[in-house]
Amino acid sequence: MLRIGLTGGIGSGKTQVANWLDQWGAAVIDTDVIAHDLTAPGGLAMTAIQDAFGKALITADGALDRAAMRERVFQEPAARERLEGILHPLIGQEAQKQARQASGSYVVFVVPLLVESGRWGKQVDRICVVDCDRATQIARVQARSGLTAEAIGRIMSVQATRQQRLAVADDVIRNDAQTTIDMLREQTWHLHQQWCRTAPG
Ligand code: ATP
Repeated sequence: MLRIGLTGGIGSGKTQVANWLDQWGAAVIDTDVIAHDLTAPGGLAMTAIQDAFGKALITADGALDRAAMRERVFQEPAARERLEGILHPLIGQEAQKQARQASGSYVVFVVPLLVESGRWGKQVDRICVVDCDRATQIARVQARSGLTAEAIGRIMSVQATRQQRLAVADDVIRNDAQTTIDMLREQTWHLHQQWCRTAPG
């Protein structure tokens, strides 16, 4: 099956796009969901995380304490690398396993950090970027989560830039302030039809 890597910055619209593709018959594999499962109580990554960071970052029920970990990796970039060194290979393995079992017109891997992690290039046939300007990303995430602009800015500061994403994109979905939901859907539909006609490799 054709494998698409779908990425974009925080609040760019990846989830919205992925939901439509799922409805239209693609096999959607969300690496955020996989990361969540790996770090839930008893999750496959939890032993390695405890070995690397001790119990301070683990909740009473044995899950990763996301808020504590977020704080730690902002304070200490090396901790981010260590955490990603544990999680990214496991996410990759699980995503490939799910893809082998998937049925659909093509596979879509939703990977927020596709450009940053560097390991996805060889695992997908095409990279699709949901492109959005910074101010609109901040406004959308604020409306959704109530995070402050500063907190959103901190998250964005460790994500790839718009230019870095566009530089590796095979397909681009524009979703800036002028893009209505209908316009977003229309672009997504157009690409869906194109991908349905495209053979892998
Ligand atoms: P994250 O990486 O933070 O999970 P995301 O890239 O998956 O974000 P979405 O959750 O799809 O982004 O979109 C962010 C928010 O913006 C959602 O509430 C979504 O409904 C809204 N949104 C996305 N695109 C548009 C648009 N064109 N017009 C209006 N609202 C939009």
